[in-house]
Amino acid sequence: MMMTIKGIVLSQKVLGEQDKFIDVLTETGIVEILVKGSAKITSKNGSATQLFAYTEFDVTNSSRNQKNFCHLRSALPIRIFYGLRQSVQSLALASYFAQVILYSALPQASTPEILRLFLNCLHYLSESENNPMQIKCIFELRIASLLGFRPDVLMCRKCGCYLPEKLYFQVENGCFYCESCETSGILMPAGTLQAIRHIVLQDFEKIFAFRIAPHCQESLVTFAEQFLQYHTDRHFPALEYYYQLIRELTL
Ligand SMILES: [Zn+2]
Repeated sequence: MMMTIKGIVLSQKVLGEQDKFIDVLTETGIVEILVKGSAKITSKNGSATQLFAYTEFDVTNSSRNQKNFCHLRSALPIRIFYGLRQSVQSLALASYFAQVILYSALPQASTPEILRLFLNCLHYLSESENNPMQIKCIFELRIASLLGFRPDVLMCRKCGCYLPEKLYFQVENGCFYCESCETSGILMPAGTLQAIRHIVLQDFEKIFAFRIAPHCQESLVTFAEQFLQYHTDRHFPALEYYYQLIRELTL
């Protein structure tokens, strides 16, 4: 059966000299596509099957038992994020995002939103004026919500205080307490809570439009990363690679 699918290349496994498998995130889930290098059509469209390319794929699906496996017939790139290649740091973050998506069970209903989030994060990462750490936090907290783990950002779980000056956010329970009610969790100023609220609750169009105050960045980064890791219960090798890069760059 022939069909056309639109999606973004999350990973690739090279087979021999010319062929490869690619995993593609589409609005309906992840599809594995076999790309034969020997086919004239695919070598002509090489950039369309490279990592993080957003592409329209014409594929054939020969076996009925493998509904998520296809052979590539032709590929037409929709968007190549050239800016990503200019920064190893951005490229490492993009790989981390891709791993989170690959390792998670994607709920059918939120897969289109996950695709949209990933595309937007790649867009902002490929423009050098954006803060990669902020994009990382947005991705982590927003995808956690889409995967079904939304932190409770409403008020102190005990006394109902809406905006305490300082608070403790508990990753395991996914809720926060003001300083006078509890003293365990990630300590953060009110500004960090407001940033978390913005990322989790704001309409998609607006989530990238804010600036983290410098005194809030550290607690936001810690919280977003730990929250996603704890609730997905996964270890992401690309994240380790990202931190290794940062250490090398700051030496
Ligand atoms: Zn309280």
